[in-house]
Formats: sequence, structure tokens, C-alpha cells
Amino acid sequence: HPFQCFINNEFVASKSGKTFPTINPCTEEKIADIQAGNKADVDAAVVAARKAFEFGSEWRTMDASGRGRLISKLASLIERDRCHIASLETMDNGKPVSQSLDDIDYVVQVFQYYAGWCDKITGKTIPTDGSYICMTRHESIGVCGQIIPWNYPLIMLAWKWGPALACGNTVVMKPAEQTPLTALYAAALIKEAGFPAGVVNVIPGLGEEAGAAISEHMDIDKVCFTGSTEVGKLIMQAAGRSNLKRITMELGGKSPLIIFDDVNVEEAAQFAHEGIMANQGQNCCAGSRTFVHEKIYDEFVKLSKMQAENRIVGDPWDDITMHSAQVDDKQFKKVMEYVESAKAEGAVLQAGGCRYGDKGNFIKPTVFSDVKDDMRIAREEIFGPVQSIIKFSSLDEVVQRANATNYGLAAGVFTSNINTALMVAQKMKAGSMWINCYDIVTPQTPFGGYKMSGQGRELGEYALKEYTEVKTITIKVPEKNS
Ligand code: NAD
Repeated sequence: HPFQCFINNEFVASKSGKTFPTINPCTEEKIADIQAGNKADVDAAVVAARKAFEFGSEWRTMDASGRGRLISKLASLIERDRCHIASLETMDNGKPVSQSLDDIDYVVQVFQYYAGWCDKITGKTIPTDGSYICMTRHESIGVCGQIIPWNYPLIMLAWKWGPALACGNTVVMKPAEQTPLTALYAAALIKEAGFPAGVVNVIPGLGEEAGAAISEHMDIDKVCFTGSTEVGKLIMQAAGRSNLKRITMELGGKSPLIIFDDVNVEEAAQFAHEGIMANQGQNCCAGSRTFVHEKIYDEFVKLSKMQAENRIVGDPWDDITMHSAQVDDKQFKKVMEYVESAKAEGAVLQAGGCRYGDKGNFIKPTVFSDVKDDMRIAREEIFGPVQSIIKFSSLDEVVQRANATNYGLAAGVFTSNINTALMVAQKMKAGSMWINCYDIVTPQTPFGGYKMSGQGRELGEYALKEYTEVKTITIKVPEKNS
């Protein structure tokens, strides 16, 4: 398995020779030392990516359908190595292997989806005033820096490589330092698939070094980031200070899931449980504020407590395991600190609230009831398996309270009344709105945030807009005829 930087289709040592360890979150053992790329390595990757993007290069002159065939080949190779890649993901991130397998299948779908787009990205002809013919071309932007987090390592990579490559750009990616393994494996598959050298480059490294070098770079045309709102702000500032590179970012969330009293309470409680606990709660659109109507509140709390206690926690390699370790010690401590803050502020602990076992970063699925809007667990992103159940009594009131946050990534509503569902859906300030379901994010549908949850959209046709520049071409003609 490669542990080095991937530049120009070759694995090479970092220029500084420094390394960083990647740790298995379930055993706390070191998996490997990874070469730590920094500014010098990012510079080398940008030179390679720029060269691959030059006029007349193999990549620039390739038919769009040829790009589609390469992305499709990449999807097939990932499918071929599905079990191996899922094992790497589980070792590095800690998530149960059944979930890693689902992740890899989803990655294949994302690449297949974008493979199909390559030769369908079209401009327009525009009936402009005057004796002119006018058309637009949707052109590749150039070298795209991409910085991804650790919660869905290969999925985040696919969301970024898929549209960037479909639109004909070149890529310099930095995976998260907690989970570099699958990105490096995917880099090897880029070469095997036959992508020209320099089209995709991967620089593992630390955020303040390799990540900052990408966002400050004068010869990177666009940066796409997923991670914390705090780092998102730094990246935006760096883009502004340097070359005003284009930006897409998908940041934190504190998403409300609103449950009215006209639902099957058991079913709604099951969705709400999965909506917060999925991926050990390390999910940017986690339903981390569960608003429940007062008429069904007590029953809902009882069911949620039961769900949390029945969730199978433990060995990530066992097929029946539903819940595993947090990604690292830092996240473990952060989540436990929120649990303590909730107790101190008067929330009632119904389930969990403590570590599981004596090794690894395992936290038992945790449920708090009697949560008030001003408690820290109701305001701040925890990014862990902590459900906050909050009481409400009317539609207008809950919409106002659910929107009272700086975040706006997602929201959900459960009701059997179509008017209630659509009233809530219209009024929520959120990029994704789910009705009687939660966390449905498909390759075809745009995803991104309102307010401080992001800029721009990923996935679907909308992501293509983020990876293209529009050029207007106006041609004088002797006489215009309709
Ligand atoms: P982070 O934002 O620090 O890391 C995300 C990525 O950004 C990583 O690749 C990291 O190396 C890089 N990075 C860090 N500092 C950078 C800098 N100065 N310049 C450029 N890149 C930089 O996230 P984290 O510290 O791993 O997690 C902290 C919190 O962020 C979590 O608890 C959670 O609330 C949130 N988070 C959100 C998402 C999401 O999907 N929205 C994902 C991961 C973490």
C-alpha cells in the first residue's frame, strides 16, 4: 500500500522527509507512517497539474467522452477492489465494515454518474441584440485544490474528483490526516485506469501545512473544501488574500428534525435515531436537534432511549455491529465534554453518556431529553452520537426555533399532513429538506448549505456549475435572421 505523495502519476517521498502516523481508532494502534506533504510538495503537485492542463496536452485534447470512459474505468476498478478498500476505510476511520462497504458502493455510483455527464456539459446559443450570433461555452476552470475530512473519506473524494474531472479540470487533493489510506489507494487506481500524468495528484499532510499551502496558492484556480466552519473561514480568507480562487465549501451543521404528533411514533423514532447515530454521529447533516411535539414527547423519549440501548456497539469487523469508535482521541474528548456540559446545564441523560469498553474511542449511543434551545448541545456541532430531544407545541414556533442557528445544511420533518410538511419545507433555511425520511443524499441531487454551512453545491448537475467557467463568444454576422 502506498504511503507517499502521488504526483504526476508516481508515488514520491515528501520533500521534507517528515511523516505522520495514522492510527486505528478502535485499537489505538499505529497503522502506518505517512509521508507528510507540505508547501514544497503542493508546489510540485501544482506544477504537474498545471502541465496536464496546458493547451494541447493529452487531457485538454481528449474527447469529453474519453474523459467519461476514464472515470467509468475508475469506478470499475473501485468496484473490483471493493472489499480491500472497505477494509482500509474501517481500519483508518473505525466505522463498521458493513458501513464501509456501503460507502464504497456509493462511491462507485458517484463516479458512474459523473462519467455520464462528461459529454453532456453544454452551453447555450443566445438571441442577443444586434447582428451577432452569441454562444456560451462551459469551460474547465483549471487546477482545483480539494481538501477533505475524515468522516466519509472516500465518499468525500468521489464528490470532489467526480465533477472536477467530468468538467476537464486537474486536481491537487489533500486527504484528512486521520484517514489518508483510501485516497492514496484511489490514487494508484487513477494511474491504473489510464488518466494522463498530473491530472490527479494527492498530497497527504497536515491541515496547517499542506492544506494551507493549497488555499494560499497563487496558481490554484479553485478550492473545494469540506470540514469545519472554522477552517472554512480560514480557507476563504486565504483565497481572498491570494488569487481570489473560486470556492466551494461544505461546512458544519446543527440540523433540526421536526416530528409532529400525527405520525407513527415508532417509525419516526427509528428514523430520528438513525439520523443522528449514523456514522457514529460524525455526519455533517446529522439530525442533531430532534424537535418533538409535546403530545408524543414522553413516548418518543422512551422509544429513543430503547433504540440507543439496543444499538449494537463494538467490533467493526463483525457484520452485526452498528456502532463503532469515534475517529480519534480528540473527537472522543470533544464529544465527552459536550456530554458533561449537557448534564451540568440540566438536560436529562436517558442513555449512554459514557465510553464503551476500555480500549479505542468508543462512546455509547447517547440520548438527552429535556434539552433547551440555549444549552450548548442544542447550539453547537458535536459531531458525535448524542441525540438532543427538544419539546415544541406549534408549527410557527418550531420553525422559528429550528431556524435560529447560524447553520443551514439540512432539515427534516415527519408528519402525515401534506400542508404541514410543505409549510415547514418552504420555511426552513436549509440546503436539504427531507419529508418523512432523513439523510437521503444521492449522486443526482445537489447538496450544500445555507448560511454558515457552506458556499455552492456539490453532487448532481449543480456541481458542474462549480467546476466550470462560462465564456460568452459573440460573432458578428452581416445580417441576422430569425
Ligand atoms: P477540520 O476542518 O480541521 O479538517 C478538515 C480538513 O481541513 C482536513 O483535511 C484538515 O487537514 C484540513 N485543514 C485543517 N486546518 C486547515 C487549514 N488551516 N488550512 C487548510 N486546510 C486545513 O476538521 P477537524 O478538526 O478534523 O474536525 C473538527 C470539527 O469539524 C468536527 O468536530 C466537526 O464539527 C467538523 N467537521 C465537519 C465535517 C463536515 O463534513 N462538515 C467533517 C469533518 C469535521
